[in-house]
Amino acid sequence: MGRFVISLGGNALGNNAEEQQKLLEKVAEAIVPLIEKGEDIVIVHGNGPQVGMINSAFSALDVSNQMPFAECGAMSQGYIGFHIQKALQNILKQKKIDRNIVTLVTQVLVDKNDPAFLTPTKPIGSFYNKEEADFIAKEKNYVMKEDSGRGYRRVVASPKPIDIIEKESILSLLEKHHIVIAAGGGGIPVIEDKGVYRGIDAVIDKDYASAKMAEIILADELIILTAVDFVYINYNSINQEKINKVTLIKLKKYIEEGHFKEGSMLPKVLACMDFVEKTKRTAIIASLDNAALAFEKEQGTKIIY
Ligand code: ADP
Ligand code: MG
Repeated sequence: MGRFVISLGGNALGNNAEEQQKLLEKVAEAIVPLIEKGEDIVIVHGNGPQVGMINSAFSALDVSNQMPFAECGAMSQGYIGFHIQKALQNILKQKKIDRNIVTLVTQVLVDKNDPAFLTPTKPIGSFYNKEEADFIAKEKNYVMKEDSGRGYRRVVASPKPIDIIEKESILSLLEKHHIVIAAGGGGIPVIEDKGVYRGIDAVIDKDYASAKMAEIILADELIILTAVDFVYINYNSINQEKINKVTLIKLKKYIEEGHFKEGSMLPKVLACMDFVEKTKRTAIIASLDNAALAFEKEQGTKIIY
């Protein structure tokens, strides 16, 4: 029996509650064979559009009284976790498989001196016009930036995860073979300040958080499921070539050659490399549609030491 971290990308979640539930029912079907085999699993998921939606809903109620982003993240973990939990439970119930599934509100520790705080890059929440943006910037001390011609948005930092606060609980649940849904959206970012944890407005990349999770639970495999079936070199060009299996050394060379796009594939590749480097275990990047085959190592890009 092994331990797996399965990381679900944005394409697993859709645009509204109904779509999300439907898509996650398909994801659950793909995961169930692993559960039937008795594997231990932690599921991590993205939350970009969902947390934005929650944040926007509160802003629409009252522009001058924003819901803190960390709290929005906590809500998104419950909302998405509920759907994954329910989808898996329903299939297991039909199959009369007795495994417990639980969603954990998860805080992820970041360093308050992380250099990322000096240059916020992640746009979050609603779009505003210039006047509203100026008002919010002044009132709230937020950094507001124009986002590709669509209006002004708040930007926050994307610091690196350094620890998972609830890790002992996650490990205890795994010992009891519970399936755990945790660190949704990369986790709720917290800093340690004068001996206490404090939620902050930031976005932790869910790929890095997944790798941190895999490292902490000493996963046999980190599986990142996204919208493409493989990682490619020369992606989107005529000489595009899929990568089946690749070592760290070779992957480093591909990075230097600029094959992976920042903000999409690069963080996945870097997160996988970090996990493989630290544990000498395997990471896989595959498409959500081929999840079942990826679990059998028959699809996807395998990153090895
Ligand atoms: P997720 O929501 O799963 O994090 P992202 O959109 O952030 O998804 O990242 C996956 C995307 O990365 C793919 O859909 C693809 O468009 C893009 N991408 C960039 N470079 C590459 C590459 N070299 N090989 C494959 N996909 C790539
Ligand atoms: Mg992404």
